[in-house]
Amino acid sequence: MNSADSESLARRLLAAGYLEDSLERADVAILNTCVVRQASEDRVYSKLHELKWWKTPDRTIAVTGCIVAKEGENLTRRFPHLDAVVPIGDYDDFVANLEARYDYSQGEPLPHAGRTGVSHYVRVIQGCDHNCTFCIVPRVRGREKHVPLEAVVAECRQAVVDGAKEVVLLGQNVDDYHDPDGGGGLAALVGEVEKIPGLRRVRFMTSHPQDLEIELLEVMAASDVVCRELQLPIQSGDDTILKRMARGYQTRHYRSIVENARRLMPDIGLVTDVIVGFPGESEAAYLNTRALVEEMEFDVVHIAMYSPRPGTFAATRMDDDVPHAEKLRRLNDLLALQRGIAARKTARWLGRDVEVLIEGRDELNRPFGRIRQGKRAIVMRSGEVAPGEVLNVRVVQATAGQLLGLPAA
Ligand code: SF4
Repeated sequence: MNSADSESLARRLLAAGYLEDSLERADVAILNTCVVRQASEDRVYSKLHELKWWKTPDRTIAVTGCIVAKEGENLTRRFPHLDAVVPIGDYDDFVANLEARYDYSQGEPLPHAGRTGVSHYVRVIQGCDHNCTFCIVPRVRGREKHVPLEAVVAECRQAVVDGAKEVVLLGQNVDDYHDPDGGGGLAALVGEVEKIPGLRRVRFMTSHPQDLEIELLEVMAASDVVCRELQLPIQSGDDTILKRMARGYQTRHYRSIVENARRLMPDIGLVTDVIVGFPGESEAAYLNTRALVEEMEFDVVHIAMYSPRPGTFAATRMDDDVPHAEKLRRLNDLLALQRGIAARKTARWLGRDVEVLIEGRDELNRPFGRIRQGKRAIVMRSGEVAPGEVLNVRVVQATAGQLLGLPAA
């Protein structure tokens, strides 16, 4: 979501004549921020401290993103060298003020008329109507606002014209999407987007187990363009903890989604999020999560230790009663378990032919990209390949994190 916001603001600035450059040469530094965890918020403060040395009267520092909703004008009080605090998506006044200060409109021709890489992020929902007790997102991003289906399709079409091969439809809870003009839900939207000529791939994230519908899985299974990957956070494998988190589903329901998804698409990539050490998580509750992770065989599990976010229900009304050392033990235990699962799952790709959408080159100058199931893949001995090309690759090596392959005949 933050990448989509950064892209959107960058496109506005590039259209106004600005160029991306190193901090040393730049006139303007913009921090796009995340506050989902305390560590992310702390990084913003540390960056703002660092920027003190950079600031001069001719330079501008701006902050946008979730911290603006959370901290607002406190930021300028705490960091007097900060020039602008820009609410998410509210970029018109900010760009106009910059243009009044630095006029680049007579400068060199713009190198990026439409700034689009191989993948283009399209926000289809802003905000979230859920109220998970640990989560600060509804407070900083507000209630859901849905972008009309026609506008999403138009943006995707333009992205393809500008060179994108893949679009990623984004929503905090993307399955809840409905066209405000009556054109249907996420399955209908994905079905329309995938028809765009020239588009090779469609992804969407993040799904919510309470809202994901079978029609969406059917659209995915029937398509050669929609990627076979679900980002489906479970958060806990224990029903009591799920209730305390106010997630709105039980593990039985989650299992049935995964069963349906794998029945329709046996090789689907499955990514989840888990929080360990949530208030009230007993050893037995943790072991339920561990058992579920073992049973589900996820491709990727993002594991976080619970940390209270001020302003959330859990922070104000629940006792953070799992000691830090215990949270850490559960985190490491789950990481070790998942490492083994991921390695076994990735090894199943050995010898198979996969399609890799090339995104760029790695540090060893080898083309890399992703397969339709979401795994990163590196192509060895490929010759000249440009980002955006799709290569058929035979997998010859697999690690927990990625596949290595050779061009297939
Ligand atoms: S669904 Fe829950 S965890 Fe996800 S953004 Fe909304 S409130 Fe946060």
